[in-house]
Amino acid sequence: MIEHDVVIVGGGLAGTRAAVEIARTDPSLSIAVVAKTHPIRSHSVAAQGGMAATLKNIDPEDTWEAHAFDTVKGSDYLADQDAVEILTREAPDVVIDLEHMGVLFSRLPDGRIAQRAFGGHSHKRTCYAADKTGHAILHELVNNLRRYGVQIYDEWYVMRLILEEGQAKGLVMYRIRDRRLEVVRAKAIMFATGGYGRVYNTTSNDYASTGDGLAMTAVAGLPLEDMEFVQFHPTGLYPVGVLISEAVRGEGAYLINSEGDRFMATYAPSRMELAPRDITSRAITLEIRAGRGVHKDGSAGGPFVYLDLRHMGKEQIMSRVPFCWEEAHRLVGIDAVTEPMPVRPTVHYSMGGIPTNTDGRVRSGIGDGLVESFFAAGETACVSVHGANRLGSNSLLECVVYGKRTGAAIAQYVQGRKLPDINEQRYLTQAEQQIQELIDLPGQYRINEVRQAFQDCMTDYCGVFRTEALMREGLEKLQGIRQKAQQIYLDEKGTVWNSELVEALELQSLLIVGEMILTGALNRQESRGAHYREDFPDRNDTDFLKHTMAFYSPAGININYRPVSLTMFEPLERKY
Ligand SMILES: Cc1cc2nc3c(=O)[nH]c(=O)nc-3n(C[C@H](O)[C@H](O)[C@H](O)COP(=O)(O)OP(=O)(O)OC[C@H]3O[C@@H](n4cnc5c(N)ncnc54)[C@H](O)[C@@H]3O)c2cc1C
Repeated sequence: MIEHDVVIVGGGLAGTRAAVEIARTDPSLSIAVVAKTHPIRSHSVAAQGGMAATLKNIDPEDTWEAHAFDTVKGSDYLADQDAVEILTREAPDVVIDLEHMGVLFSRLPDGRIAQRAFGGHSHKRTCYAADKTGHAILHELVNNLRRYGVQIYDEWYVMRLILEEGQAKGLVMYRIRDRRLEVVRAKAIMFATGGYGRVYNTTSNDYASTGDGLAMTAVAGLPLEDMEFVQFHPTGLYPVGVLISEAVRGEGAYLINSEGDRFMATYAPSRMELAPRDITSRAITLEIRAGRGVHKDGSAGGPFVYLDLRHMGKEQIMSRVPFCWEEAHRLVGIDAVTEPMPVRPTVHYSMGGIPTNTDGRVRSGIGDGLVESFFAAGETACVSVHGANRLGSNSLLECVVYGKRTGAAIAQYVQGRKLPDINEQRYLTQAEQQIQELIDLPGQYRINEVRQAFQDCMTDYCGVFRTEALMREGLEKLQGIRQKAQQIYLDEKGTVWNSELVEALELQSLLIVGEMILTGALNRQESRGAHYREDFPDRNDTDFLKHTMAFYSPAGININYRPVSLTMFEPLERKY
């Protein structure tokens, strides 16, 4: 059995920042980071636009309180305000700390870190490295893992959380290269497994964003929080869905419909293109529905709108958002200096997740109870700083602030604790059986077929606009798809780099996460942030100013609720 003091699942920003903090706090601890990709290939590497912090380099009037207010208003008042206070107060320090580690931020002419405008933020406070911010930060953090002697298990797939008597004791994982199964035990386990964009058919997320950590947590009997809040980013490049960063609008680009109008004037006159993402995504969807979208030949009534950068000029485009220019050029043959880009909303981010307190400790239920030895941070966690809608550039910030805090909490937590006892053989046998059963499945469906049907179902029945009738139909369809998922077959039976086996396991995660999203959405009979119900178009604070806590069982999902922490701001009507 493999043993470490701490095992972190996930090599993105949240996991690596936590590992660095643990090593800095207590260099004697044995720390491992496990990831099904190489850490450098975690989705964090793709983050583009930047990371918010009130450094006041451009805007001396900015304050952490203003950042906190923007975040809470952006969240449609569902964020826990004690967690938002920590996020925004600690932001400047974590950015400076990253820069001391060697992260190459873009600069002002006088050498200070540059900051740009972002949707829903009232001041220019987003720090960035051109439009490759995640790349710059993750590379430096992974370098630091090596420096601190953190053991990296890259391309190992974690398939089970071992939770016994309210304590996380370890993991079951296998090496993708040769399918070697291992049980790991540790004094603390942390999940930093990222989001679930692949639940939908059009997403900015990478192929590995399948919500495994969420599914493993749910299957272990622990709740997931606010899963109905799925962020659609307004500007996915049509038709591929890859992200065109909000930084492009932060730098001045326009959204234009088939009539050549900057239609955001109708939906958010004070913020225009820099309204929060939920509002902008709904606006684009409504324009398309009203026949003011554009076809490929430029005629009206098509499936996308235009993102127009032309007035920005070549020099600004190439120096501030070169990667977005390159994406459009490489993927759809558009030169954004002379032509507008075709865009429409794409699934981008998971506001909900594994409920934690502000030290990253995982909650065991709707009260204040905590799971022993189990921590989570980053996109997979719900602390909750984003509530019903995240503001751009607050997620990298969350990964770093809460990755660091969780690391510090873990370093304290493990002091004086013993390694837990685990019946290794029992878990190995069960895992071996589970894998063998998948490999031997005699079904008639290819994995891809079932996954596509599932992704289409989630997209059609639980998208930007939702109704009870639509979601009930979606849940019914989902039951059929779940049955089909029992009747798949794998062509690849071997042990060497069996990527079909990985996909079969990921499909199970996707199905569980999808059902949690749909059920949470059906139960929330109001519209708030990213969750918009056409049958309940208003926010309803009397009945729904509370967090959804969903408990999974194969027989169905139970929904309960938790109160929201309102320590700073009273809920107000949300207008831009
Ligand atoms: C294209 C794009 C651009 C973005 N731009 C910005 C931006 O400019 N600003 C901003 O604030 N936010 C941005 N975001 C959001 C932000 O990047 C993410 O929310 C954040 O990076 C998530 O980091 P993480 O550490 O939580 O997870 P990730 O970086 O997704 O890492 C997850 C890790 O978990 C591992 N893992 C998952 N499942 C398993 C398993 N079963 N076994 C083993 N390992 C597993 C993966 O291998 C990976 O290492 C962007 C997101 C996208 C998709």
